[in-house]
Amino acid sequence: MPTVPIESAALRGVRGSTIRDLLAVTEQPGVLSLAGGLPATDLIPVDRIADAAARMIGQPNALQYTTSRGVSLCRDVVASVEGVDPHRILLTHGSQQALSLLAQALVDPGDVVVVDDPVYVGALQAFQCVRAEIVALPITSDGTNVGALSRLLERGVRPRIVHTVSNFHNPSGATASTATRNSLADLAETYGFWIVEDDPYGRLSFDGASPTPIPGERTIRLGSASKTLAPALRVGWLNATPAVVDLVERLKQSADLCGSTLNQLMVADLLSDTTWFDAHIDMIASAYAFRAHALTSALDDELGDSVEYTSPSGGMFCWVRLPGVDTSELLSVALSYGVAFVPGSAFAVDADLTDSARLSFATLQPDTLREAVRRLRTAIDDAAEL
Ligand code: PMP
Repeated sequence: MPTVPIESAALRGVRGSTIRDLLAVTEQPGVLSLAGGLPATDLIPVDRIADAAARMIGQPNALQYTTSRGVSLCRDVVASVEGVDPHRILLTHGSQQALSLLAQALVDPGDVVVVDDPVYVGALQAFQCVRAEIVALPITSDGTNVGALSRLLERGVRPRIVHTVSNFHNPSGATASTATRNSLADLAETYGFWIVEDDPYGRLSFDGASPTPIPGERTIRLGSASKTLAPALRVGWLNATPAVVDLVERLKQSADLCGSTLNQLMVADLLSDTTWFDAHIDMIASAYAFRAHALTSALDDELGDSVEYTSPSGGMFCWVRLPGVDTSELLSVALSYGVAFVPGSAFAVDADLTDSARLSFATLQPDTLREAVRRLRTAIDDAAEL
């Protein structure tokens, strides 16, 4: 009998996330992990969330189904955070679901989707699931590579979507300048593609200023409560022109009927308490800034000229280059010394990122970050002798 693959043709083209596989190894006791993409558990406002749950569970229909667009109270609050009309807002199960639904709503098999290289792997997977033709452009320190994108467009390539993480990019840490944002919006208008501005980190700016969103009707902005409140709430949102919201709404009915009414009510309660929320954001952004500084000063002290890194200005990640080091090989040595990170190749589409790595500074305390970098240096010295 011929062997028939059990997965669909679409799924055959989807790369499993090596990062998720890695986390199983890195989250072992005794391992100091710079690998995780998660926010710090110690910065999750547990008491305030419990308070929101207690208050909102008594609301009429808090435990009922809601509309596929989401609870209107929460859509109103998100609309005011985004500075737009509530008709533009649809609530999703984390912003990852928005990526998945948008891919299904807007992309046909073979359509070109442009991503950054290195890429946010969750976005890559969402587009691979719909059999998009992925074109990856090497990211710059100023975010998505507008020069390479312009050349692609001039050659006649017509993407459906350009995916961009405009603020504190995962994994590279880059933030797009205003000029890059405006150029992307102009190109989208001229060539008729959608910009998916995937922005879960924008509020985590170390200097307090949230960068301005990408302008234009062709921009679909994605936001999330995962990095500012808690990932387990699974509340994200999409801010788009109503025609796109309608399409995604239809798809969301088939995906999960609706999100969690109670969780959306809780997010409405938390985000609308602006005095508390702004103070909370200040607190987590300064904690991350402190941790980022601890990590980069440890890199300077321990690794000196043998490391190059982007100085984080927000978010949770520091992208490093260790010239001459294969970071995938280094990882197994590093694990034996009790430190973990994600090798650059895990985020690569076409680029050679063998000597790069993503270090998360979010979850460890400053002293522990220093110890993690000490272990990393020992592993590098050891690997060099192999
Ligand atoms: N986009 C980016 C760039 C991310 O880094 C993440 C999470 N790591 C997501 C989207 C998805 O986050 P969530 O579904 O929790 O909102």
